[in-house]
Amino acid sequence: MNKIEDIEQFAKDNYIPIARKKTVQFMIDIISKNNYKSFLEIGTAIGYTTIVLKQKFEYLKIVTIEKNQKRISLALDNFNDFNLLDKLSFLQEDALNYQLDDKFDLIFIDAAKKKNKFFLEKFKNNLNANGTIIIDNMNLDDLWTNAKPKKKDYYDKINQELISYLSTNNEYEVTFHYDIGDGIAVIKLK
Ligand code: SAM
Repeated sequence: MNKIEDIEQFAKDNYIPIARKKTVQFMIDIISKNNYKSFLEIGTAIGYTTIVLKQKFEYLKIVTIEKNQKRISLALDNFNDFNLLDKLSFLQEDALNYQLDDKFDLIFIDAAKKKNKFFLEKFKNNLNANGTIIIDNMNLDDLWTNAKPKKKDYYDKINQELISYLSTNNEYEVTFHYDIGDGIAVIKLK
């Protein structure tokens, strides 16, 4: 696929969750406004967000992590089609265990939703001063397209716990934007 619209359509047809346009636009704005130079994405899926950001900001250093073999191979095809294979760092790893030493200006947590808190606590150590962390799907709407209904209560509970943790932990300055995409949490470290 070598058009962004084709990736969007493919994701839709194959029930692959990707960030919504408004969420990606929010990240574009935040990168521009803060003159951010580096981006870490937890959960690549088929490379959608990475490709949009890299097209917009050629200089942006991008590291993106994906563990699912099928999606890795789709992302590799897409990165290749967009001529980006050697212009970004694609880690084919489980982010739960992977240790990164580099620091980033913007970190996008968009992997297994039940692991959001774990990923936040792990990857906040990779955030530059004045950096921003964004957690996607705070509304969990996109999840139900793919998840079994009986899991809804379980995920709702975990999401509520995350909201309460983010709202009460003194380490973070958090704003929730439930109207952007599927809802995002925007986190700065105090
Ligand atoms: N961020 C992508 C985008 O906007 O184009 C969409 C990512 S999709 C919502 C979530 C992805 O995270 C899935 O492809 C899933 O396989 C991956 N994922 C889940 N847990 C992971 C983990 N522990 N390590 C790496 N990837 C993981």
